[in-house]
Amino acid sequence: MANTNTVMIEKYRNNFLKEVEANVEEGEWVKMCMQCGVCSGSCPLGPHWDHPPQELFMMIRAGKREAVLSSSSMWMCTSCYNCVVRCPRGLPITHIMHGLASYANKLGLAPKNQPTKKFSKIFWDNITKTGRANELKMGLSLYFMDGMGSGVKNAMANQKLGMAMMKTKRMNPMEITGGHGIKDTGGLQAILKKAREIEDAKLKKQ
Ligand code: SF4
Ligand code: SF4
Repeated sequence: MANTNTVMIEKYRNNFLKEVEANVEEGEWVKMCMQCGVCSGSCPLGPHWDHPPQELFMMIRAGKREAVLSSSSMWMCTSCYNCVVRCPRGLPITHIMHGLASYANKLGLAPKNQPTKKFSKIFWDNITKTGRANELKMGLSLYFMDGMGSGVKNAMANQKLGMAMMKTKRMNPMEITGGHGIKDTGGLQAILKKAREIEDAKLKKQ
């Protein structure tokens, strides 16, 4: 899937592998890949992606910066770990996939309407507010992530499930006004602020 963002991006970068090693979680492992293809063959979803893991790693080494960072493939990884347990070189493939997605997102190069990207943002915003997930608000945000029309349709289709969850106290309608959180939300926000500053400083060096 091609990236529809307007951010300028270099098509090739000779030292792209070095960039990945410096900025992507577990990126220093990419050079250890021997291109055996076991990960791609083990991935239940890889055949439906533009680039399964082995191909992405080969493209990184070939300097194909644009094709890698604007790919939707790493956004589709479900963290099943099939690839990790089978890789003969022990590469932490799942982490690299998520690391690539996160790095592309930071650079503003991730595909714009990727559903899993939307989900990640909803989850992150939800959990970082109070330090605990508010399931009711998260569920509603997911239902309505593509607009009011589809949100109402989703809610109607899952009405029975919602009622059953409330009845068995798996969902509390009162959580819509706030819900529970950790004691030191200020401390959590300070940690996140510091982490953002460190990451921004790293990106500025690019
Ligand atoms: S299984 Fe491991 S060594 Fe083989 S292609 Fe995948 S990442 Fe590379
Ligand atoms: S962890 Fe991700 S990349 Fe690895 S096999 Fe599962 S879906 Fe594929």
